[in-house]
Amino acid sequence: MQTTVQFLNGLDTIGGNVVSFVNGTTRLVMDLGINFNPEQQANADGYAIGYFPKLPTLFTDQQADELKTFVFISHLHIDHMGALSYLKQNTLVYMSQASYDLYQVLLTLGWEKPTVANIKVLESEVAMSFGPFTVTGYVTDHDIQGAMMFKISDGTHLFVHSGDVRWDGDQADLVTHWVHALQNETVDLLLMEGTEFSFPKSQNLQRNTEMQLQQQFQQKMLQTDQLIVINPYERNVRRLVALYNSAQAAGRQMVWEPEYAQILKKLDSFAGLVLGSDISWQMIKETPQRFVVQNRFHNLAQLSQLRAPFIYLHMNGEPLGRYDERFSQMEHFLQEQQGTLIELGASGHATRTDLTKIAHLVNAKVTVPWHTFKSSLMADQLRKVGLTVKQPEKNETLNFE
Ligand SMILES: [Zn+2]
Repeated sequence: MQTTVQFLNGLDTIGGNVVSFVNGTTRLVMDLGINFNPEQQANADGYAIGYFPKLPTLFTDQQADELKTFVFISHLHIDHMGALSYLKQNTLVYMSQASYDLYQVLLTLGWEKPTVANIKVLESEVAMSFGPFTVTGYVTDHDIQGAMMFKISDGTHLFVHSGDVRWDGDQADLVTHWVHALQNETVDLLLMEGTEFSFPKSQNLQRNTEMQLQQQFQQKMLQTDQLIVINPYERNVRRLVALYNSAQAAGRQMVWEPEYAQILKKLDSFAGLVLGSDISWQMIKETPQRFVVQNRFHNLAQLSQLRAPFIYLHMNGEPLGRYDERFSQMEHFLQEQQGTLIELGASGHATRTDLTKIAHLVNAKVTVPWHTFKSSLMADQLRKVGLTVKQPEKNETLNFE
């Protein structure tokens, strides 16, 4: 039977990419993100303005049709899962075990809004059947806990959704593993993320790998007697653990805000001190050279009580970038408080060279660049290595007979 692939969103944006695979009465939907757009967020009817994908039985009160729908979430970045809390119908949603565990604690903290979805685990590299489809998830490397790549078979055709991926991180072997696995198969369609094609190349010059980030963090600790404050993203649990280890190696104690501590405890990764229960700001002020304090933007004002120069390492926590007006608020505040702002992040997205290399090695019959502002630029690059590339319009369908 024919499989129809429909691109529901995210073709020329970073994130918000949604694709569906329909065969008979079974529909698979992959990722359910929303884009960062405060203006649209204020609008009450997100469905009507195309903010949510065109899936009326999921996002409106329309009665279910004959299609049985299964949703798959590659990872817990808002642009891949932010629409979960807007689902109107109880829907089966699959994600990796590590994503599942993280999602549960985020719900507990109220950092994710409740969802009517029925969340299930997709074990890594265990093929699961959904009607005529078989879905296999592979854990992959991205800057978040639990990221997965998805392979979908309808018995005749093979489709691959790369998810977000990097190939120079501390888990590059995971990516190498799934790329090699795909080389032994004939892939009909590869949906390849292209984030790094979005920005001018000069911005990529100072690219840090995850390992270089830790090295620079350690250097900073050894160079100064000042307090070091870090602002990492709570969902990158692996980085949090590595930061703790680096602090230990440099002879400093790591101090976590209670919510970060709760995440780490729930995921069995906790070590260090908890601000407010194990240690107070007063104690930190007495011997600042002995500590690293994790601080998120929400609690930035707490740093005003330090009244001494400190180093502030922005490590991909919120605000995520200069497009967010809170970034300049943060800069202004730190200047006033004698905080030296250093941006010490690492990208979760593969370089242009690595993206092209992955697509080239997978060598699908058709490759679709998406999750990028510059899909044409990426398409040119992919064609140069001999790939057949398609750039679908939003809501366009491709049929596989
Ligand atoms: Zn992501």
